[in-house]
Amino acid sequence: MKRILLIYTGGTIGMFQNPQTGALENFDFNNVLLHIPELRQFNLHLASTTFEPPIDSSDMDPSQWSKLVRIISDNYDSFDGFVILHGTDTMAYTASALSFMLEGLSKPVILTGSQLPIGTLRTDGKENLITAIEIAAATHEDGTPRVPEVCILFHNKLMRGNRTTKSSADQFDAFKSFNYPLLARAAVEIEYNDEFILPYNPQAVLKPHFSMDSHMVIFSLFPGMQASLVEKMLNTPDLKGIILRSFGAGNAPQKKWLSDALSRATEAGKVIVNITQCTGGSVVMQRYETGIQLLSTGVISGHDSTVEASIAKLMFLFGLGLTPEEVRSKMNECIAGEITL
Ligand code: ASP
Repeated sequence: MKRILLIYTGGTIGMFQNPQTGALENFDFNNVLLHIPELRQFNLHLASTTFEPPIDSSDMDPSQWSKLVRIISDNYDSFDGFVILHGTDTMAYTASALSFMLEGLSKPVILTGSQLPIGTLRTDGKENLITAIEIAAATHEDGTPRVPEVCILFHNKLMRGNRTTKSSADQFDAFKSFNYPLLARAAVEIEYNDEFILPYNPQAVLKPHFSMDSHMVIFSLFPGMQASLVEKMLNTPDLKGIILRSFGAGNAPQKKWLSDALSRATEAGKVIVNITQCTGGSVVMQRYETGIQLLSTGVISGHDSTVEASIAKLMFLFGLGLTPEEVRSKMNECIAGEITL
């Protein structure tokens, strides 16, 4: 019998409407089988653990990520797969962070949540939870896990976690993977796209990482930005990394003050990563003069990374204690399927 651990962190999925008062209350995941008897139809051993107190995902931070890494690594040998119930707002950040922090992962870690509480009519939470559990327990014929990586399952779509972005605040179809194909789609059958799923490695040994360095900013360029404000931000002494959200294929205004400020920041040991403000596509700084100028300031390409994955990767690499030069070189490597090279 496969063993799956449900980890409830908080968020809408874990709420139900008290029939007496009409108020939304937190659902006790330790009684998950009482609330969702359908789960008994799986021939699985389900155990659960809950964040105390459960948190809205806007309050997620690196200490909560390391708590998740601790729970997964402590229980790694006793379970075949993990399902994390999480608020949707920052789920893509958590999925990205876990994909780096759980080095050597060879079991499924599936994040899901919902737009409507699980205990309300028309909830999307039950389907999401049931499908996530089914995927976490799925194996190939030889018994190896079907999806040995960190994923988000939402609205019948299984996506690589570090390729996913929340794209709608009110639709059930709330997540998109703009630059990477779906790993699976749940229809009458769950149709897996095996060629896009990270291969199972029988030699892999889990190496959990617990520290993330959050001395970072995400900065979006916009027409008319003020030199004095941008210079001040780039000069901040404690700042180690900047995700620079540029225009189109990685372009920025050709203003001398901007190139000077970026060059100074690079020389001061800050790592500046260029990703596009477009939802899909990749940075190719060599394409236009406006991108080439950025290259000359030491800015490096974030390729086709999501914002969530690029900031999580910077936090992770600096958290390992690497030098800026080492971080720059690792940002150009694909370490958990997060970029296309
Ligand atoms: N604000 C909630 C959260 O992210 C929304 C949700 O669960 O979908 O925790």
